[in-house]
Amino acid sequence: MTVITRFPPSPTGFMHIGTARTGLFNWLYARRHGGKMLFRIEDTDRSRHSEEAVQAIVNGLNWLGLDWDGDIVSQFSRSDRHAEVAHELVKTGKAYYCYCTPEELEQMRENAKKEGRPTFYDRRWRDAPPSMTPPEGINPVVRIKAPLTGERIVQDKVQGDVKVNAEQLDDFIILRADGTPTYMLAVVVDDHDMGVTHVIRGDDHLNNTFRQNVIYEAMGWDIPTYAHLPLILGPDGAKLSKRHGATSVEEYRDMGYLPEAMRNYLLRLGWSHGDDEIIDQEQALQWFDLENINQGAARFDFDKLNYVNAHYLKLADNDRLADLVIDLYKLRDISVSDIGRARLLARMDELKSRAKTLVQLADDAEFLVHGIPFEFEEKAAAQLNEDGKFIVKIVRDRLSALENFSADELEILCKSIANDHRDGKLGKVMMPLRAAITGKASSPSLVHAMEVLGQEEVSKRIEYALEKFA
Ligand code: GLU
Repeated sequence: MTVITRFPPSPTGFMHIGTARTGLFNWLYARRHGGKMLFRIEDTDRSRHSEEAVQAIVNGLNWLGLDWDGDIVSQFSRSDRHAEVAHELVKTGKAYYCYCTPEELEQMRENAKKEGRPTFYDRRWRDAPPSMTPPEGINPVVRIKAPLTGERIVQDKVQGDVKVNAEQLDDFIILRADGTPTYMLAVVVDDHDMGVTHVIRGDDHLNNTFRQNVIYEAMGWDIPTYAHLPLILGPDGAKLSKRHGATSVEEYRDMGYLPEAMRNYLLRLGWSHGDDEIIDQEQALQWFDLENINQGAARFDFDKLNYVNAHYLKLADNDRLADLVIDLYKLRDISVSDIGRARLLARMDELKSRAKTLVQLADDAEFLVHGIPFEFEEKAAAQLNEDGKFIVKIVRDRLSALENFSADELEILCKSIANDHRDGKLGKVMMPLRAAITGKASSPSLVHAMEVLGQEEVSKRIEYALEKFA
């Protein structure tokens, strides 16, 4: 059997982190088993459909490096087929037309409430005798005949056997009065027609599964294998929401997380392989299975995400990182010259070992690419008081005497100035010097950065700073 999974997001306009995890799990499972992952847009609610909303999901998948097989299927475009199935079920006696008016339904709802029943529809049209002629002017809905008694079981790869009594299922609507399918019908017909063998989705859909299985059985179709993933919670145990921070994939991209880190993190968010935290793509493709999906809800842990991202930053190719950082600078209206790029690359090994995110890396490295004039952060400005300027001037006056403008020589120079003027305390030389050259109170190794900037640029910056704080 070829494994066929599916990724059926609703076009919400962004890709939720939970949707991304579902996509990843479906993708891994399909790829691991040499199968296919199909991509369907659940756009039956046309008011929500837009090309941009579809594009947002496509961009999210592309960014995460997840691909799919075949064309993107529009659920809406298949509504004739959904209706056809509903009518077929009526013909075979598995479903029926119901002509209840809104008032009748309201009355039933009230009665059920009074009696404390879980469902309300009283099935009055289910086995309507011929004497019950349809009222004029009412377009009927199609309802399916749900089983009346017995235990209903969903066999789930994550949750095990989940049971409900048939009494808890009503004869739910599969085709609305206007002829449009309900979500319940559309999903089942599409999954069946697309040959889906494995349905891996959030457990907010588990209750729907009992209803969907009624349709599968009525059509005599094979029920797919189900795996319902537990919710993603925020660090405090409440459902992950904006309150906890970013909830969409785009936001994580913009905060400077690498796609491979996000994949690793999302994989671990609900699935485990012993105590392994770092699981790269290759390992994931060898190890991923449905059996080790965790039963309990997963809590989003920002520290862990940072840890995983820092790991992948260290492994990332320097050229790629330079490109990504330069993209971030574009958003900050900073254009980077070839010289700026070369400086970034020259210091990338150090930069990437310090950063947890690309944004931090970009912040850290900005002084390497900007020119004069530049801003001084408050703490840096404070360093350029009389004492600080005194030291910076000494450094300036002795720079030209250096044989090589190298990190080693610069270090020796700064140490000797510290010995002569600051009781050997190197920090007291470096702090004001750093402030003058970078505009910041902290930076990657200053002497290495000075070497990369070169004597001319360093001298210019020092003059600029001294003038500014004169
Ligand atoms: N469109 C549904 C959603 O975005 C998914 C339905 C399913 O997986 O069956 O939640």
